[in-house]
Amino acid sequence: MKKLNFFTYLIITALLFTSCGETGESNEPGEKIQNTEVTTETDQQDQQVDRVLTQEERNALTPDDVVAEFRKGNTRFIQDSLTLRDRQNRITQTSEAQNPKGMVLSCIDSRVPVEEIFDQGLGDLFIGRIAGNFADTEMLGSMEYATKVAGSKVLVVLGHKNCGAVKSAIEKVELGNITALLNHIEPAIEMTDGFPEDQRNIKNEEYVNAVIKNNVRHTIEEMREKSPIISEMESSGDIKILGAFYDVSNGTVEFL
Ligand SMILES: [Zn+2]
Repeated sequence: MKKLNFFTYLIITALLFTSCGETGESNEPGEKIQNTEVTTETDQQDQQVDRVLTQEERNALTPDDVVAEFRKGNTRFIQDSLTLRDRQNRITQTSEAQNPKGMVLSCIDSRVPVEEIFDQGLGDLFIGRIAGNFADTEMLGSMEYATKVAGSKVLVVLGHKNCGAVKSAIEKVELGNITALLNHIEPAIEMTDGFPEDQRNIKNEEYVNAVIKNNVRHTIEEMREKSPIISEMESSGDIKILGAFYDVSNGTVEFL
């Protein structure tokens, strides 16, 4: 066994050397191989590790641990240093069971790839997506499943800059089933005061951003009001609920 480990170490060292020698650039890929194959202690502290958490490891996390990991993951995303993952290995590891650490409710917008912006992989997160990221009964049921049944520690409601759904709601667009969808965003428009009538339009970015953030806040209010399961889990400290705003122009997530 020791011989095998030493042999593996030799191969990794060779890979590191080759990587640096060939590119003359940073040894980032080599570092990631090292993280994946060799390190164990540091991996447990810093979850930049290419494997899925076991149920015990996930259960040992506090909601604050998960939030901290979301923040660190977004920093890695902005720095373009996403964790290198062995997807095939993850598929094998998760084929029988899953232990996601959190759930994110996001808009459907193609510029908001949720796992990527938090640098999370297969099996790490539940994702709920609907244009305008609001929580209707079915979405609340999904969140209750993610937390109460499956053990996730954090619920994040993620709005984003330049949200077409919110802009359409401000414009009072009426079209097919979109009309009913946009009605869910109406309360956020009503919540957004402090803007004179002539500035309450989609040309005013400050106003639109305020409605987007209020839509996140309103969704969270609805979650607490309409789901006793979620509000009790929050009160007892079993989960945390956070609002967030993703900036499509620079990749940053701002927690509200
Ligand atoms: Zn959107």
